[in-house]
Amino acid sequence: MLLRIDDIGASSKEFEIYSKKYFGFGNFLFLKYLRHFKAWGKYSELSLEDWKNISLLINKYNAKLLIGVTACWVDKDSNLTPFPIKFPKEAMFIKNKVKEGSFKVALHGLTHCIVGKHKPRLFTSNRKYHREFWDYLPFELHFENIRKGKQILDDWLEEDVNILIPPGNVYCLKTIKAAYQNGIKYINADNAIKHEYNLKIIDSKNQVCFHDREIKLYGVKWLKKILDDNKEEFYDFF
Ligand SMILES: [Zn+2]
Repeated sequence: MLLRIDDIGASSKEFEIYSKKYFGFGNFLFLKYLRHFKAWGKYSELSLEDWKNISLLINKYNAKLLIGVTACWVDKDSNLTPFPIKFPKEAMFIKNKVKEGSFKVALHGLTHCIVGKHKPRLFTSNRKYHREFWDYLPFELHFENIRKGKQILDDWLEEDVNILIPPGNVYCLKTIKAAYQNGIKYINADNAIKHEYNLKIIDSKNQVCFHDREIKLYGVKWLKKILDDNKEEFYDFF
């Protein structure tokens, strides 16, 4: 079985702000920021300390962890900062664990969002803008985002990153073609799309997929419980 954590380095944790309460009324102005109303952001990035704790657990249980990294942090002015520059200590730690073999990194988009539309709205949810690979976006955007994102991860890790995890399981034939043309070998998502490219879609339904958000909200003991509860070992990547 595969264990996967997503949203590392994604600024959606800062800007994806919406509410499911009261038929969307919770999205009204400031209400969505209140603890009772909010369904996703804000929360902070995993710290070096968090990563050390996660790694200790992974090693203790002889497990492996697939990490979906969003290649760039997008700030409020739509500037993009590569993950290893924005979070250098954490990036160095992850890189060492990748070299040791207990972590593996997958591309979780260049931005996780539609840049320029990513900031919170006054009256409505902005959730749909925190997906990257919509079919209505041009092929060139799919291609360039995958190309740039993969390049950043390859340069950081000094290896060929060949897995794409589309943010929110949103992707389409344009994404598959763009991924294939950029040397991606696997797409890991919960919805397979029929295609003719030499690229495998790995179903994530039977994997344990979570987000950095769970660690931030419930602590590393949340992950310990997952590892305790699952008798099958999380021993392999695909
Ligand atoms: Zn995500």
